This record gives sequence, C-alpha cells and structure tokens, in this order.
Amino acid sequence: MKTGKGSVQAGSAILCFVMLWAGMRMLPDGKAGKERTVLCRKDVYTIYAGIEGETYPWPLHNSWQDTGYFYCADGIQRAESAEKCISMRETVGSYVPLEGDVLLRPDALYALCDMQNDYPLQEGVRFSRGYMTEAEQNIWQAQTREKYKKLGMPAVSCPVPAGGKSEHQLGTAVDVQLTGRLNMNEKNPLKRNETGRWLWENMWRYGFVYDADFDGCEAIHLRYVGRGHARMMHLLNMNHEEYLSFLQQNKTVTLMHGETMIACVLCVTEGEETVLLPQGMRREISRDNRGNIILYCWAE
Ligand SMILES: [Zn+2]
Repeated sequence: MKTGKGSVQAGSAILCFVMLWAGMRMLPDGKAGKERTVLCRKDVYTIYAGIEGETYPWPLHNSWQDTGYFYCADGIQRAESAEKCISMRETVGSYVPLEGDVLLRPDALYALCDMQNDYPLQEGVRFSRGYMTEAEQNIWQAQTREKYKKLGMPAVSCPVPAGGKSEHQLGTAVDVQLTGRLNMNEKNPLKRNETGRWLWENMWRYGFVYDADFDGCEAIHLRYVGRGHARMMHLLNMNHEEYLSFLQQNKTVTLMHGETMIACVLCVTEGEETVLLPQGMRREISRDNRGNIILYCWAE
C-alpha cells in the first residue's frame, strides 16, 4: 500500500494530539494527574475528593489547640468542656428569651450574639440547657425517664444521655423551644414558626447545626461546630455523625467556590506522624475522641 503525504500529515496530527493530551495529564511535579471526583455540588459550591495544589508535611506532634468541635458525646464517650463557660443571661439576657440561665463556651456564645445582631431572636424562640454539669445531666435524664414511665414507655427508650456523656457537657450545645403559634403540620420541629425557619435556613452561617436525632423529641438541639464545618455540613446535608463518617471515608476533601479553593478538610488517624497540608492556609484542629484528628484549613 502506498503511503501518501496526506496520511503522514494525519499520523503527525494524531501523534501531536496524543502528546498534548499526555502533557495535560501531567502535573508540574511529574506525577500523573487525576480527574477530580465531585462529592457534592450546591449553589456556587463544589466539594471534591482529595486536595489540590502544593502541600507540605506538617508534624502532628507540633503543639496545637483542640477546638473540641468534633468531640463525640453520644452517650458512650465521656466528654467535658476544656473551657470555662459563660452566662448567656449576663451577656445577651435582655435580647434573647431564656429559661433560667444558659451557659455556653465563649466562642459559641459570641457566635450566637452575631446571629442575634442580624436577626432579632426576641420572639418565637426560647433558649434553654446549654452547658450542664454531670449531676445536672443525670437529673434531667431521671426526670425524662420518669416522664416516659408515666406514659407507659420503657426507660431504655429515653434519648437523654447519662451525665458526663452528653454534648451538653461540651459547652457548645444549646436547646431551643419554639414559642407562640406553631404549625404542627410541619414535620421538622425547627420550622414550625418564622424564627425557627430563619434559624434552620441561616444558623449554619454562624457556625450552628441542628441535630434532629440528639435528645430525641425532648428538645431542638443545636450545636456550635465553627463556621467552616457548619457550612460543609449544610452543603452536604449531614449531621455530625454522618459528616464524621464522610470525612473518615474520604480522608481529604476540598471545598471550591466557583474555581477558587476556599477550604480543605482532612481526617487523620491519631498516631500518624505527619499530615500533608495545603500551602498558605490557616488551620483549626479537633480530635473526635474516637481516634481521629480533623483539620479544617481555609484560605484567608
Ligand atoms: Zn440538647
């Protein structure tokens, strides 16, 4: 078969295309690039598996402050706030209806003040049960069990954890009750009035998340996890437990706003010596008291 000029040109063009494609698949450090795996896409945000750009090894034995945002306190693990909690009555008492006094860790309380500044929480909502001592938690559990008994329900079905093992010992959790006229046709107990609906739609911007499972039907249980994680949980529509499993499974995830990388979340096993962190980002770290360390890195 005669090979004409045209087919030589076509062969060169194919070769060039293959070389160009191979070149595009290589990263500057010479390693083969991977396709980005999209884990979640919502509004302008996308969450990808893995990490993008330059990284550097960071030794985990460096000293770091544990934020406590990931402490599991689900009735099994013991948990206690490492920080002194402060009085909500003294800080915002006249602006936010309270049942008795409510104690919270300063970071959670100031985030709540920010929320109150943007939306008046004076009507339709009442805050109760923030930080509780082990003894107070035990009293609450006993009262709930008593209530269950009167209703003819078994005490083991009581959703209130024992003293020392509840998120209410962390100083980052607070319960709310909705007041006034409630729409009982609404299944989500937080969305039964206007203030509750606002909280449902907006509180993640201030670092709060709602866990419908926690405390069972005893209360609407909110927990402060920091703004970064609250946004991730909001985008993924996951509660604390689900989000933790998601991080354990994926190890590293990247949050993009359009084409801009704004955060990376990493999950490492306690005992690992180093972790590869993205360059030029700040970080906050929490243990989950189940043997994992969660690092949230964000661009300033
Ligand atoms: Zn609660």
